Amino acid sequence: MERLQKVIAQAGVTSRRKAEQLIVEGRVSVNGQIVRELGVKVNANKDDIEVNGVPIDREQPVYFLLYKPAGVISSVSDDKGRKVVTDFIEAEERIFPVGRLDYDTSGLILLTNDGEFANLLMHPRHTIDKVYVAKIKGVPTREQLKQLKDGIRLEDGKTAPAKVKVLSVNKKNQTSIVQLTIHEGRNRQVRRMFEALGYQVMKLKREQYGFLDLTGLTPGEFRPLKPIEVKHFR
Ligand code: URA
Repeated sequence: MERLQKVIAQAGVTSRRKAEQLIVEGRVSVNGQIVRELGVKVNANKDDIEVNGVPIDREQPVYFLLYKPAGVISSVSDDKGRKVVTDFIEAEERIFPVGRLDYDTSGLILLTNDGEFANLLMHPRHTIDKVYVAKIKGVPTREQLKQLKDGIRLEDGKTAPAKVKVLSVNKKNQTSIVQLTIHEGRNRQVRRMFEALGYQVMKLKREQYGFLDLTGLTPGEFRPLKPIEVKHFR
């Protein structure tokens, strides 16, 4: 939900200041009702907003799947001038990432301008499996793998059961590649799970998000989601 004057301004009708004036003058309606207060919040994709009796342009919802390279911020802008995920997608719409991947994490991330869709996907009730592949320093023991699987006590609580698979071990370098499937989305969760066991994550990639994967994409590339894929999540 966003402030009415902001939505009017973003639709290109006028400036935010002038939009406030229009509201106070009673020239703006939301779902057929004149609105004169400035605090009102609306859903830009859903509510019918008219200025002087003319509907404002509504953005069509768009959905993208990006193969985020490492070294990119999961945000729409960065005050330090670092690359952000929206730099990779040429879209007219005001898209934003659904959740986030750490700066150093690569892999699958969705972007959309549909706030409702994003909220739905990030809601804890909506348990979407995310498959991560981590390169870690060291070789986890059988007992530690069981701990990852059953749940690890982190400072924000025990993690939910996960699927764990060791994909390979490099004995010479003492590194392992471990696949971890989780459905929670806590901040830096995979890194913290390994760190709790004393392992440093050297590389992390999200390979799957629900039924979606990175097939056909290289880092920095994206594709639109198919309508059927969007529907699948709802
Ligand atoms: N877990 C992490 O530690 N980092 C990510 O980017 C995603 C999940």
